[in-house]
Amino acid sequence: VVRLTDVRKDFGDCTALDGVSLEIRAGEAVAVMGPSGSGKSTLLNLVSGLDRPSAGSVVVGGEDLGALGEKGLALFRRHRVGMVFQFFHLLDDLPALDNVALVGQLDGLGARAARQRATELLEGLGIADRGDVHPASLSGGERQRVAVARALMNRPALLLADEPTGALDTRSGEAVVELLTDLHALGQTLVLVTHDARLAERCASRVVEVVDGRIAGARAVRRDR
Ligand code: ATP
Ligand code: MG
Repeated sequence: VVRLTDVRKDFGDCTALDGVSLEIRAGEAVAVMGPSGSGKSTLLNLVSGLDRPSAGSVVVGGEDLGALGEKGLALFRRHRVGMVFQFFHLLDDLPALDNVALVGQLDGLGARAARQRATELLEGLGIADRGDVHPASLSGGERQRVAVARALMNRPALLLADEPTGALDTRSGEAVVELLTDLHALGQTLVLVTHDARLAERCASRVVEVVDGRIAGARAVRRDR
């Protein structure tokens, strides 16, 4: 699904990524690890179409992102990828259910159908009873589950998560990890940036190490479960 070829990304005179080539197949769960500032978020933002490479190519689902205009890239982000961030990025003025449903409505689903699907997603993630609650009154773990539901609303081929447990206590972090593991078991392709080796071990099928903007190594994770 994802192919990066000799990708470089500069921010001014800082080179955040250089010579990065990486292929991710459908159904894989790849954990991206590495020190702070090594380029992990930059890598994820190139795959999600939030950002463009300075050189090299990024192809996702057969689509060469470099060939897309701004509008094409926005459509790509809306339809093809789901994104989960460390700090949730939920809309504080809307209850949980509406945060999720809104994505479907923006995408042309009717209000009823969008709420229906959002309700099913919240049910699937074990927070059906929190739909009426505003993000400020949810626990961190609940917020992140709402964010995962929102990311899944448009059935993205690719789910991207940047430190999804970074702001959570151990227990809610575990719950989110379990959720991602379940999604992967159901066939969801997943790219996960994390500092947490245990998390990577638990939900990834492959761990990719990024150091100083380069891929420093990769290894398969054995799945015994
Ligand atoms: P962390 O683990 O702390 O999240 P990271 O591996 O995600 O780190 P990146 O955020 O990808 O690291 O940053 C890689 C490098 O690029 C860093 O040196 C950072 O300062 C720089 N960088 C990232 N985004 C920008 C930006 N928008 N403008 C300028 N420099 C940036
Ligand atoms: Mg980062």
